[in-house]
Formats: sequence, structure tokens, C-alpha cells
Amino acid sequence: MDYSDNIINLKGVGDKTSRLFNRLGIYTVHDLLDHFPRDYEAFAPSVKVAKAPLDIPVTLELTVCAGFQWKKVRQLSIGTGMAGDDTGKITITFFNAPYLKNVIKAGGVYLMRGKLKKEQGVLHMDQPKLYTYEEYSKLTGSLQPCYRLTAGLSNKAVQKAMKQALPAVSGEEYLPSDIIEEYQLISRKKAYQDIHFPKNYDEMLLARKRLAFDEFFLFLISLRKLKEMNEEAISSYPMIETALTKRLIESLPYRLTGAQLKVWDEIKADLTSGRAMNRLIQGDVGSGKTVLAFLSLLMAVANGYQGALMAPTEILARQHYEQLLAMNSQYGLSLKPVLLTGSVTAAGKRKIYEKIESGEADIVIGTHALIQEKVTYHKLALVITDEQHRFGVKQRENLSEKGDHAHVLVMSATPIPRTLAIILYGDLHLSVIDELPANRLPIKNCVVNTTYRKKAYEFITKEVENGHQVYVICPMVDENEEMGDVENVTEYTQKLKSSLPSKIHVEYLHGKMKAPEKNRIMEEFAAGNIDVLVSTTVIEVGINVPNATVMMIENAERFGLAQLHQLRGRIGRGKSQSYCIFMSGSDNSRSMDRLKILNQSNDGFFIAEEDLKLRGPGDLFGIRQSGAMEFKIADIYQDSGLLKKISISVDNILQQDKDLSSDKYNSIQRYLIQNTVNFVDFRTI
Ligand code: ADP
Ligand code: MG
Repeated sequence: MDYSDNIINLKGVGDKTSRLFNRLGIYTVHDLLDHFPRDYEAFAPSVKVAKAPLDIPVTLELTVCAGFQWKKVRQLSIGTGMAGDDTGKITITFFNAPYLKNVIKAGGVYLMRGKLKKEQGVLHMDQPKLYTYEEYSKLTGSLQPCYRLTAGLSNKAVQKAMKQALPAVSGEEYLPSDIIEEYQLISRKKAYQDIHFPKNYDEMLLARKRLAFDEFFLFLISLRKLKEMNEEAISSYPMIETALTKRLIESLPYRLTGAQLKVWDEIKADLTSGRAMNRLIQGDVGSGKTVLAFLSLLMAVANGYQGALMAPTEILARQHYEQLLAMNSQYGLSLKPVLLTGSVTAAGKRKIYEKIESGEADIVIGTHALIQEKVTYHKLALVITDEQHRFGVKQRENLSEKGDHAHVLVMSATPIPRTLAIILYGDLHLSVIDELPANRLPIKNCVVNTTYRKKAYEFITKEVENGHQVYVICPMVDENEEMGDVENVTEYTQKLKSSLPSKIHVEYLHGKMKAPEKNRIMEEFAAGNIDVLVSTTVIEVGINVPNATVMMIENAERFGLAQLHQLRGRIGRGKSQSYCIFMSGSDNSRSMDRLKILNQSNDGFFIAEEDLKLRGPGDLFGIRQSGAMEFKIADIYQDSGLLKKISISVDNILQQDKDLSSDKYNSIQRYLIQNTVNFVDFRTI
């Protein structure tokens, strides 16, 4: 078995199963090995009913009481009754488990595993799994990996494939021994074994540490190299300041904030310096980054060049395009922008490519399609990426190569603490917009549980009647995917429609819809024809509909705080008071406390820091933290200490041996080359 082998070569993985793996982005043995568990199930010894914690999996040793009954309801056979031990009794229910009919007998003693729940004072466990003593003693004390799955693919099947893939991990070490020693690292081979099948929690943590180390280390080495390359680059596109940008700033309906002006000065200094710009603008949601992008594009065009603006989603690209068109005609800028996205027809694309190549188009706005090979630019001098965390380092590299040392401007609202940003964006100069436009009313927030939903709906109705619009966010598209009982967009929309007055126009939006349909919905929402938009997090980045004043987020406990903050940034953009309702699906006091941080502050950096403090080892998995830079296993918040330390080590190494050509460091260089394909994805989602 080899790293690059197709998974179809694994025993028990046929055509059908391999297609299911493909849906998770797993094609090769390597992909599979990097499909790390999202959680582990710990099989602790059984506990007594009176001592059992609620809402998490526990194992109870129960005697079934007399009167246990099986009923047939439609096609299902359902068994219910009581069972207990010397400390208490609970209700047990089995749905559609006819084969248990002959197993479960009054007076029998069984090991039952499931989540114990309490409703109206009654303890119950639904659909427990049964174990023999022998089976259970084998599992006791072990941690079983739980993987991200897709409909049709079981956790067992992934485990089985994983066991076969593990021997493919090479035993060779690429790190010098003093680093291994300093960081107390286990081998990569053992790390893969133990991250997937740890004997205990400590073993898993050591494995995780080694893998996180490798991710950060390789990432930072590559980043330093990129920086070196950039710094040597003389720009082929020097610019001078033109009257056009000044005039635009003066004609805007608002005054730029002090922070916007400061950053604009930094951009201008870069563009006129004779060197290629490599700058990151960090500014909280709503701080007004877009207008700086437009000014920069205008400056490039006024100097006779082309500029490109890339967005992570088609919706956002289109919105930028339309905003630019509006400015174009309002201020008589005579720009010639084109919009290039995945949903443009082949013929349409060809025309656009021609315009870009001939220079007839001077501003190109679009999604990833922009960076596809087919696009040849006339004089691409400036490349801007909006909401940068969605673009990889490699993609940025591609782009700057396209326009031989074009100026690169990256805009991000990801609230990463400054100390970390300096490391993670080490190849870029940093500008911060640390001031919001003055005319904003702070968003009013509340954190509630689901019993509040009816009230929330009444509130939504009232706001719509006052002419405002509403976002409702659900985590998942359909219930088949990875998580079970979370609210999902399509079903939720039906439910919402029947709960709200029929004159309220409700629509939904999710990532799996076809692009033209998404665009239509987004345009209708922006035009005010849709009152309530139920959406997944596709709405997260950049969307600007100032008339939307309410956001309600279902299952808020499932999101990272930084991401919730970004979501919330879709409202509070206009003159009216905005409201954000965080609906928690769990009453668990820890999740409620976490969410309440969002009540205390509208400052993304503060929230990111607090989130960091509150998380413990138990949160290593499970909370979705997209919206921050995603590594496969390392977490920039959780592992910030490690990241800072590695950053220093990397500096030391490169100081000793800039090209990694010495005997001691040569293996790092070789490893990097072999693993570049893997590496480029580090900053993408
Ligand atoms: P983000 O930084 O999140 O990308 P946008 O650029 O979308 O924010 O700006 C949000 C809103 O604020 C837009 O409607 C924009 O026109 C407006 N805006 C930008 N700068 C200012 C300013 N200095 N004063 C008032 N409104 C502004
Ligand atoms: Mg934006």
C-alpha cells in the first residue's frame, strides 16, 4: 500500500464505497489517512443510574422490569418499558428493532449504552445499544474514533479502511533530532496510528501534537520562502497617484473614517514604491474594506493597467460587480469591468477572456474561475482577494505569477489576534482598520434556548411588518450529512413558512443549489422582494443588504464564536437598529456561557481572545471554526502557544541555512517538495 494509491485498492472498498469516500474529498490513501477523527467515543465502565450524567453517552447495567411491551405502530415494532438498578429506574424505548423482541426479557440484565435524557422529571434512554459483558470489557478504556461521514458510509467502514491504510505511513523522519528532542515529538508513523486508534486520551494528545507540529512547521517554512521571493520582487507596474481617486473620495456620500484613510495611505505608498505590494487589510466586518478595494482598482486603471478582485463565492463576486457598476455610472468613472464566475456560459466566458486579453476590460471581478489557466491578462497589475481565508497560499502565488509580480492586496475580516496574524500572514505587510463608521447603532444581541422560538417568530413578523428583512441561519443542508438532529435549511423553511403569516415571503439559500438559482434568490433578497432568507453559512462572507435588521441563528452552539461574529456582521449595516438572536439547541450551561460572550461585545478581536480562553481540551473537536484559517488538525487558537514557538524555531533554522541545503536540514527540503500538493490546501476551506 502506498500513499498515492487510490482507495479502491483497499480491501472492502469497491466502486460504491469509494464513491462515498470521494464525496468526503477522499481519493487516495493519503487523503484517507488525513481524514482525522472529529471526536472519540470513550467506553468508560458502566455507571449507576443515580450517578449517570445526562445527554452524553453512558453505559448502564440494567435489569428489565416486568411489563416490558412490544407494539406494532404502522410498520414499526416499538418496545417500551422500565429498567433499572439498585439506585433508580428509567424508561427504555426501542424503535423498529424486531430482532430484540426475543432478546429483551423481563428480569434479564443487560449492558445498555446511549444518552440518558430527563424530560418532565422522567429519565429515559432511546434506542440504547446492547453489549455482552465480553464485548464491553474489550471496549472498556479505549477511545473509538468517530469520523465525519456521509449518507451510506458507516463509521465502521471508515475504521476498517483506515486500519489497512495505516501501514502506508512512512517510518522515515524528516526532522533533525534536536527538534524532535526539543518538542518531545513522537514519530509520524506512531502519530498516525495513535490519532486514529489511540489507547487512551494522553496518547491521542501526543499524536495530535506531532501532527499539529508538522502542519505549522511546514506551513511556516513555505511562508518564509514565499516572503523572501516577494521581497526581492521589483514591481513591473509602478504607479503614480492620480486625481481620479481623490475625486472619488470627495464625492462619496460619506467621509472615510480615519482608519480607512490611514490604510489608503499605506496602499498608495506600496503602489507607488516601485516594489510589488503584498498587503493584508484586516478590518472587522462592516469596517468598510470594499471601498478601499475599489479605490485601489481605480488607481491601477488610471495608471493604464488592469486590476482583478476575487471573492470566495459567486454571490459576493456579483455583489461587488454590481456595486462597482453603480459607482461607475454615478460618478462617471468610465471603468470597463467584467464579471467572471462559474455560472457564465462557455460562450460568454470566451468573450470575457478575449476582452481581458485585449485589455478592453480593465477590471475583472470574479471567483476562483479567475485564476484558471485560460485567463490571459493584458496588463494585470493588481490582484485583490476579498475574505482571504478562503484562498490558499498557492492560489495567491499563482495569481502573482500571472501578472509577473502584480501587486497583491488581501482583505480579511477574520478576527485573528494580532500576535498570531503576524505569524500566519508572515508573507504580507499588515494594515488594520480599527474603527467602524460612526453612524452605526450597535447590534442588540440575545442568547436563548429553543423555548424562545415562538417569541422570536413574533419578533421577526413585527420587524418584517416594519419593512425590514431577516436572515435565519441553519447549520446544515439536509439531515443526512454528518450531524443528526440539527435544524436543516429546506425542512426548516417549510416549518417557518407555516409558522409565519402567509404574506411574509420566505425563501432559502444553501451551498448545494445551482449558481443561477442562488443568484436569483440573492438578488431578490437584495431588492427587498424576499422578507426572510433561511440560509446556511454561504451568507457568511461579505454580503451587504443594509435593510436586513434581524438575524436568528439556530444551533448557535455548533459554531465557533469567531464565525458567529462574522455571521452577525451581515446585519447592523444600515441606519435602523439591528438584532441578533442566538438560539442554542442545548441548555448545557457551558455552551450558553460561551455564547454569552457575543452578548458582551461586538469586537471581533475581543471575541476571538475570549473564545480561546474558554476552550478546554474537550473542545479539540466538534466546534466548527471555519471563518478562521483552517488547518487539518492544528487549531490556531487552541495551539497558539505551539505556533508561536515554532515560528521562532523556523526563523532559527532559516538563519542557519537559508536554502535548507545542509546535511542537517536537507531532508526538510525534500519533504516539502514531496508534499507540496498537500501543503497548498492549508489555508483553504
Ligand atoms: P466590510 O469591511 O465588512 O467589507 P463593507 O465594505 O461592505 O464592509 O462596508 C459596509 C457598509 O458600510 C457599506 O454599505 C459601505 O457603503 C458603508 N461604508 C463604508 N465606509 C463607510 C464610512 N466611512 N462611513 C459610512 N459608511 C461606510
Ligand atoms: Mg467585505
